[in-house]
Amino acid sequence: MPSSTLVLRRITVLSGGVGGARFIQGLLHGLRTGVVPGASAATEVTVVANTADDWWIHGLKVCPDLDTVMYTLGDGIDVERGWGRRDETWSAKTELEAYGVEPTWFGLGDRDIATHLVRTQMLEAGFTLSQVTEALCRRWQPGVRLLPMTDDRVETHVAIADADSPSGRRVVHFQEYWVRLRASVPAEAVVVVGQDAAVPAPGVLDAITDADLVVLPPSNPVVSVGTILGVPGVRDAVRSTPAPVVGLSPIVGGSHVHGMAAQMLTSIGVEVGAGAVGAHYGARSSGGVLDAWLVDERDAEQVPALEAAGLRAAAVPLMMDGPDATAAMAAAAVSLAAGDTA
Ligand code: GDP
Ligand code: CA
Repeated sequence: MPSSTLVLRRITVLSGGVGGARFIQGLLHGLRTGVVPGASAATEVTVVANTADDWWIHGLKVCPDLDTVMYTLGDGIDVERGWGRRDETWSAKTELEAYGVEPTWFGLGDRDIATHLVRTQMLEAGFTLSQVTEALCRRWQPGVRLLPMTDDRVETHVAIADADSPSGRRVVHFQEYWVRLRASVPAEAVVVVGQDAAVPAPGVLDAITDADLVVLPPSNPVVSVGTILGVPGVRDAVRSTPAPVVGLSPIVGGSHVHGMAAQMLTSIGVEVGAGAVGAHYGARSSGGVLDAWLVDERDAEQVPALEAAGLRAAAVPLMMDGPDATAAMAAAAVSLAAGDTA
């Protein structure tokens, strides 16, 4: 185990879907292979996952980010797509289309549907989303404690221009913006319905407060990490935890690599840049949530400004091109958080 001034018994990660899941997979690989300073295979990882992408469709409760983390870490993910089940078939989707059931643009695979059936039945029987998630994880054994950010219904909606509407605007569910519109039209605003009334799920605040390290993975800063931090109490817990808080930039060389972080950042008036996202999260010493911010080596010129803003900052390769590369990112994040020179 590489030496470190940090001893990591517990790491808590605030995660979205694909970006977060890939990072956590690399982190776990790094823990197993001993490349993460101060940590080992015995280090416990808790993942607080975004649930603001969730929605009800065809009578089923679908939780894309929870499922992406669960399937990725449980080795059930379709690696090419990055979401959904491997070896998926689409008979139910085809049959629904034959009935003319809308929306036809949201594909639920046959294997995936089994997960949503279990979840929906348990919710309707009165179990909470936390309890359902724990039950689903008994099958998938993700190797982390997976917690939804809240058991309450919180849904991201996106305002887009619509010439046919009297207000000139229309609000669509996040899934319609992302899946049907492919984030191809500008997002004029992001509205997180239900957020102010939401309560953190059991264990979420303790996981942040009792951690030895809190990590913001390279997830979408607005509709993944932003919505988790927006659950009342979560931002305060991150601001006040005794653990160091480190983040990894989801923007590399001015691009979001995969996904839609650029559209979402633009909608909240944040420049699409690694330094700008670090500044958006802000240093805990000046009202923000971070102690340290890791950017890609292509963005190394942004390090001095981040340091001037009160953040510990460094530049390393941040492309998640496989478990070893991603484990190295996790190791660099830990070194930076600990203040060890890399
Ligand atoms: P989602 O919920 O499926 O959109 O996943 P997340 O919110 O967890 O992460 C999506 C974000 O991950 C994207 O918007 C990208 O900015 C970021 N991302 C994806 N691949 C990479 C990568 O290889 N390196 C880095 N640094 N960021 C990435
Ligand atoms: Ca998501």
